[in-house]
Amino acid sequence: MRPCLRTLVFLLAFTLLAFAGEIRTFNCTNTQCNFKAKVFCGSGDAVTKVSGYCTRCGKMVTATFPNKDSKGFGPNPVARVWDSATGKTLDVFGCPDCKRPFAPVEGMKHCPKCRGKTIAEGVPGLWD
Ligand SMILES: [Zn+2]
Ligand SMILES: [Zn+2]
Repeated sequence: MRPCLRTLVFLLAFTLLAFAGEIRTFNCTNTQCNFKAKVFCGSGDAVTKVSGYCTRCGKMVTATFPNKDSKGFGPNPVARVWDSATGKTLDVFGCPDCKRPFAPVEGMKHCPKCRGKTIAEGVPGLWD
């Protein structure tokens, strides 16, 4: 019997993902704006990264936390807010530069800089 290549590829991808986070890139197609963002999601070997847009700094920021270890530390939100629109709670994190809270971003449709619906997603990558 031939081994199923698809299963092997799937398992390999799964193994890689288990030890690496994902980088998603976004850019604003408005040439007056040229906003670019790198969004880090998930966990690498030692750390977990959370990205979001800091309105104070006017840029994408990434906070880094040690992975949940035996002491039970994980990403440490500065606050938890409840969103009445979705009924979900949302953890907000501290900007590494100005310490102001930012909401984590995983995907983007609107540009946080020019507020247009002009965001295009680039090729994703991995970090570890
Ligand atoms: Zn900031
Ligand atoms: Zn823009």
